[in-house]
Amino acid sequence: MRKAAEPRIIRLLMELRRMGVSDTRVLSAIERVPRDLFVADPFLDQAYENTALPIGCGQTVSQPLVVGLMSEALDVGERMKVLEVGTGSGYQAAVLAHLCRRLYSVERHKPLLLQAEERFKRLRLHNITARVADGSRGWPEQAPFDRIMVTAAAPDIPPALVEQLKPDGIMVLPLGDVGGQDQELVRITKTDRGIDIHPFLPVRFVPLVEGLPESPAIAPPARPRL
Ligand code: SAH
Repeated sequence: MRKAAEPRIIRLLMELRRMGVSDTRVLSAIERVPRDLFVADPFLDQAYENTALPIGCGQTVSQPLVVGLMSEALDVGERMKVLEVGTGSGYQAAVLAHLCRRLYSVERHKPLLLQAEERFKRLRLHNITARVADGSRGWPEQAPFDRIMVTAAAPDIPPALVEQLKPDGIMVLPLGDVGGQDQELVRITKTDRGIDIHPFLPVRFVPLVEGLPESPAIAPPARPRL
């Protein structure tokens, strides 16, 4: 059975505050998202621990501290249009949805996206629009964005994402070795002259993978013999 989340959320929030998340809007967004809805049954006991957890398709939902620090670094305003690359469980998207006007989120694994959409519906997060696509290409039809967050690591900044960021817009993403070593979260600001890059936290993320996974071969329907 799912236990009452309240005391566990409060304990988690105190821990996040102690570890450096100070933006009260971010803390209250985290307070409003029941993380137990975003993890699989075997991990329910750990839903409010400050730890990353598996979510299927070989992916993970980030540690709450990383969600908090990334959301804070993104400096999201309530009127903003935000793009997230890597919907995964939908947890980070749900937190961002409480901070902005409209959130667009892209995921390359369809089963993950379908589950995340169920959770958004259940939580009545109607300001999220999500789709299956290669997020390294952004979401050109909805661009430009005030803010972009990437939750999978790439060796380089995807140029399409910089293009789809508004002037003075901010993007937060893990950059570095896709093997998981030597990655760093960076905060990028788009300026008239190009971009400013500020690394702020060593991290370990799953890789940003270009293209979509191959869909399993489906046999064509048998045709009745006439
Ligand atoms: N934000 C997620 C974290 C999921 S892990 C959460 O809160 O649960 C990163 C996710 O990025 C994975 O689900 C992975 O499938 C996805 N991903 C990796 N490369 C991608 C790409 N090119 N386009 C879209 N999603 C991608």
